[in-house]
Amino acid sequence: MDMTDRPPWLQAPLQRAVAALATGRLAHGLLVCGAEHIGKRAFAAALAGAVLCRQRVDGAACGRCRDCVLVAAGTHPDLRTLSYAESEKTGVLRKEIVIEQVRELAAWLTLTAQRGGALVAIIDPATAMNHHAANALLKALEEPLPGRYLLLLCVAPAQLPATIRSRCQRIVLQPPPTAEALAWLRRRGHAETTAAAALAAARGHPGLAAHWLDSGLIELRQGVHADLAAIVQGRSSPLEVAAQWLGDDRAGERLQFAAEHAVERAAIALAATTGAARSASGDADKLATWFAAANRTRELLRTPIRGDLALAGLLREWRLAMAG
Ligand SMILES: [Zn+2]
Repeated sequence: MDMTDRPPWLQAPLQRAVAALATGRLAHGLLVCGAEHIGKRAFAAALAGAVLCRQRVDGAACGRCRDCVLVAAGTHPDLRTLSYAESEKTGVLRKEIVIEQVRELAAWLTLTAQRGGALVAIIDPATAMNHHAANALLKALEEPLPGRYLLLLCVAPAQLPATIRSRCQRIVLQPPPTAEALAWLRRRGHAETTAAAALAAARGHPGLAAHWLDSGLIELRQGVHADLAAIVQGRSSPLEVAAQWLGDDRAGERLQFAAEHAVERAAIALAATTGAARSASGDADKLATWFAAANRTRELLRTPIRGDLALAGLLREWRLAMAG
């Protein structure tokens, strides 16, 4: 999602944030949270733009001044984004944000802004900071300088240390009502029925639905559900399906959909549980166990291990879990 196509459901939280900025109530540390593909980056970019623009229109970035042009080009000297970086030793992309990165960012935040305005730092995703990195960030949050803003993006704020959370103002991005979400998907060129199906599958999250539709993931997800049903009905063998799932580079995505499917089935089983129907909660337990196994298998597939046997084993367990 780029800035020119900012999702409409970001508008209200953005207006609240720029109103706080205009009246000097915007916190120096902001925790921008929301589900995958809700638009956290677009929100942070728009808010950073508003902070750095000095010819704001109704509190928002004007979109025309030199600061706005630099923000849009990704070259504003007073805006920095911290994310996964390559290790200097190995050249490999690290799986976490490390203390050196945070220290450098904290030092940068004490400098004078090159364009004389504010300094904005975005950490994306904030939950990628390891323990030491998060501790190093605390200092910057505890002793904020005027005109310095730290935007921490994350899906699950509970995964951040409480010390970080307590020092940030929280902005929670939420999906719009269904009608609005559908209208947005329609404007992106998706047919009504396809859009509605994808939106339901994405539990009302239009950004996620759009991602699934645009990347062909919705077909992939439907295929996974069909394969799992075929295994239960004995129309396909776990080994066949495992080989098929490993036939391209999308096995990880398929397993994620399979794991989510287990959660959905468990929710249905639990909803059906009445006082006497203990078996339904037993089904939910089996599905929860399978969910954990699916996630473990997904991790395994990232290693050079024989994935086909692990996956076939998992799919056999699916048949057992669903047999009860
Ligand atoms: Zn501007």
